[in-house]
Amino acid sequence: MDANERVLPMLPLRGILVFPHMVIHLDVGRDKSVQAIEDVMGQDRHVFLATQIEAQKNNPGEEDIYDIGTVAEVKQLLKLPGGNIRILVEGIARGKILEYQTSDTYFKVKVKQYSEEFEKNSEVEALMRNLVQQFEKYVKFSKRIPSETMVSVINMEEPARLADTVASYLVLRTDDKQRILDTVAIVPRLETLGMLVAKELEIVELERKINIRVRKQMEKTQKEYYLREQIKAIQKELGDKENRVAEGEELRKRVDKAKLPKAIKERTLKEIERLEKMPPMAAEVTIVRNYLESILDLPWSKSTRDRLDIKVAEQVLDADHYGLRKPKERIIEHLAIRQLSKKMKGSIICLAGPPGVGKTSLGRSIARALERKFVRISLGGVRDEAEIRGHRRTYLGAMPGRIIQGLKQAGSRNPVFLLDEIDKMSSDFRGDPSAALLEVLDPEQNNTFSDHYVEMPFDLSNVMFITTANNIYKIPRPLLDRMEVINISGYTEEEKLQIAMRYLLPKQMEKHGLADDMANISENAIRKVIQGYTRESGVRNLERNIAALCRKAVKQIVENKNKKIKIMAQSLQKYLGVPKFHYQIAGQYDEVGIATGLAWTEVGGDTLCIEVTTYKGKGKLTLTGKLGEVMKESAQTAFSYVRSQEQKLEIDKIFFENNDIHVHVPEGAIPKDGPSAGITLATALASAITGRKVRCDVAMTGEITLRGRVLQIGGIKEKVLAAKRVGIKMIIMPWENKKDIQELPNNVKGKIEFQFVQYIDEVLDIVLRPAETEAIPDIVVPPEAAYDNNQNLEQLQ
Ligand code: ADP
Repeated sequence: MDANERVLPMLPLRGILVFPHMVIHLDVGRDKSVQAIEDVMGQDRHVFLATQIEAQKNNPGEEDIYDIGTVAEVKQLLKLPGGNIRILVEGIARGKILEYQTSDTYFKVKVKQYSEEFEKNSEVEALMRNLVQQFEKYVKFSKRIPSETMVSVINMEEPARLADTVASYLVLRTDDKQRILDTVAIVPRLETLGMLVAKELEIVELERKINIRVRKQMEKTQKEYYLREQIKAIQKELGDKENRVAEGEELRKRVDKAKLPKAIKERTLKEIERLEKMPPMAAEVTIVRNYLESILDLPWSKSTRDRLDIKVAEQVLDADHYGLRKPKERIIEHLAIRQLSKKMKGSIICLAGPPGVGKTSLGRSIARALERKFVRISLGGVRDEAEIRGHRRTYLGAMPGRIIQGLKQAGSRNPVFLLDEIDKMSSDFRGDPSAALLEVLDPEQNNTFSDHYVEMPFDLSNVMFITTANNIYKIPRPLLDRMEVINISGYTEEEKLQIAMRYLLPKQMEKHGLADDMANISENAIRKVIQGYTRESGVRNLERNIAALCRKAVKQIVENKNKKIKIMAQSLQKYLGVPKFHYQIAGQYDEVGIATGLAWTEVGGDTLCIEVTTYKGKGKLTLTGKLGEVMKESAQTAFSYVRSQEQKLEIDKIFFENNDIHVHVPEGAIPKDGPSAGITLATALASAITGRKVRCDVAMTGEITLRGRVLQIGGIKEKVLAAKRVGIKMIIMPWENKKDIQELPNNVKGKIEFQFVQYIDEVLDIVLRPAETEAIPDIVVPPEAAYDNNQNLEQLQ
C-alpha cells in the first residue's frame, strides 16, 4: 500500500462539508457512524469525512457519496442524551476514496491522502493576494464574519490553508464547496475560489443595496403614515371644511344682526369669505377668526338714549357727592350747553385735582345722570402709541387699542368715557400716545377714528370723553387746549367728616354686609381717623381706614357673636394701631434760621421747612435739597435782597466777608421747584444772618423780586388747608391773593389769621423776633414733625 494510502472508517456527512484545517462540531446520530467513532477512539482517532450527494438519504450507498473528502481527527467526544454523540473534529488533509472495503457495520474505505503543501510561485502568490483582497471586501460588506478572522486570513502563508479557510467561511452551496474540495491542484483551486468570492461579493453588494432601498422605502412610508395621522388629528381639532362653512354662516348671521355700516359690512363679509377658503391648518385662520370676533363685538350701531334732564342730572350729582358746589355747577353748565348746541360737543371736561377728591366718581355720576354706559381707562404709564391705537394685525398677538377695547366693554357707541390720569402719560421711541389721543379727542377727526388693528374707521363723535389729571401743567399743551378744566381742590376736615359720615361709612358698611344697627362708628372716631391716620387732600385713605374699621367690626361680630359693635374715638387705637400723624406739628418753639413755607403739590398742599445756617467762610451761598432751577434762582434773589438791606437789618459790615451761608430744604431726596418759596427763603436767610428768631406759628408763601416786592402765587386753598392741618396760626401771603381767601370755607377762615403783604419788609417785621443778646446756636435742629410727610413736594407757581 502506498504511503499516502490508508484505510479509515468513513462518516457520510449531510449538507455539510469539512475542509482541512477546519474545526467543527458534528452531531452523529446514525448507529453505524456512532459505532465507527467509538472504534477509532481507541486508535489514532482518524476518520474520513465525505459528504452525501443528497443530504436527505438515510442509508446512503457508495454511489451516493462524493469520492473526495477530508481526513480528520476526532478531538473531543461528548455523549448526548438519547444515544447521540457530538464530536469535535479537525480537518487534516484532502483524501480520495479509492475503494469501499466493508459496509456491513460502517463504511471502511481505502483513501489516498493528498499533500497540502505547494510551491509558492509568483502566480500562486498573485492569486493569493487577489483572494485576500476579495475576501476582505466580502467580510466588510457581508458583516457575517467577525473582523478578527480577517486578521488571521491575511497572515496565512500557505496557499492551501488560505484557500480552504476562505472556502470554509463563504456561504456557498454544498456542490460549490465540493468543487473546491475536488480541486486538489492549488492554482485552479485558488482561481475557482477567487471566482466564487467575486460572485458572492456581487451578491452581497446587491443584497446591501436592496436592503438600503427597502429601509428607505420603509422609513418613507412610516413618515408619511405618521404625518397623515397628525394632519387627521389637527383637522379634527380645527373642525373640517364643512365646519368652517357652518362657522362662516354663523358669522354672516351676526353681521346682519350687528347692523354694520355699509363699507364695514362689505369688508367684514370679505374677511369671512377669506376665512372659509383658508386651508384648515393655516396659521392665519385663528388670526382672522379673532379679528372677526373683535369687529363683530364692537357697538357699530348700538347706542343708548340720553336722559336730557338737567334737573335730574343735578339731583344725581348731589345724591352721589357731598359739597363740590363749583365743580357740580360747571358740570351741569357743560351738560346744558351740550344739549343745546351740537357744536359744543367737541369740548371735553378735564377734572383736575389731588387724588381721592372724587374725580372718577363724578365721571361715573355724569354717566348715571345721562343714563349712558360708563367706561374708564387709566392712561397712567402709557407710553406707547399702540396702547391707544392698537397694533397692526401683522404683529403676533395683536390687539385693538384701549379706546376700541373700552367701547367693546361699554357695548354702546355713546358711553361716558373717562380717560384717567391723562397727565401721567409719557412718550418714548415707540411713538407719542398724546398724538393718538389728540385724534381721539378732536371732533374734526374722531368720527373716523382708525385703530391699527380694526383697520376700519369707527365713529367716536358720540362718545362723551371726560379726562382727569392731578397736575394740568403736565398735560401736553395741544391736549390741554381742547379741554375745559374744572378744578377740584382738597377737602377741609369738616368736609371730610361730612363725606365720611354721609357717604363713605354707609357705602363701606353695606359692602361689608353690616346692617345699620350692627355697627356704630362715632363721629368723633371718624374725626380722629382724619386727624391721626390720614394726611391727604382727598378721602381715599380715609375710605381705606373706614373699610378697615368695618372689617374689624365684622370679625369681632363673627368671633364673639356680638350683636352690635360700637367704635368710639377712645377705642380707635385698638382697631387701627398707633396714630400715624400728630395734629399739632408746627414748630414748637421759635428758632433762628428756620422758616415755614407753604407748597402746592400734585397730591395737595404741604408745609415746607427751610433751614439756613452760617459759618466761617468768604460769603459763599450753598443751596441743597434737590431744588429746581426756579427755586434756586429764587434763593439767589432772596439772598441778594437780604445783602442789599445790610443797613436796615443791622447786619455787621464785614459779615459777608467772613461767613459762608448754607440753605437747605429738608426731605432732600424729593425734587422741589417753583417761585412761591421766595419770601420764606428771604425770612430764613435774614434770621440766620441777623440772629433773630422766626415765629414758629407762622407760615408764608409768595414770590419775591430783587427789590423786595411780594408777588401773587397760586394753589391758595390747598396751601391754607395744609397749614391748618399742622396747626399754623397765621399765614402771610401776597396782597393780590386776598381775593382767593373769600372762597375758603368759613370754619377755615375763622381759625387762621391772614396777613397780606406787598413788601418783604412787612414779612420780616411780622415774623422776626427782636434781636437777643445771646449767641446764635451753631447747629439748627428743626422740629421732628416737620419731616413727617414724605409725599412728593413739587412746588409750582
Ligand atoms: P379720584 O378719582 O379723584 O382720585 P375717586 O373718585 O376715586 O377720587 O374718589 C375716592 C373715593 O372717595 C370714592 O369712593 C368717592 O366716591 C369718594 N368721594 C370723593 N369725594 C366725594 C364727595 N364729595 N362726596 C362723596 N364721596 C366722595
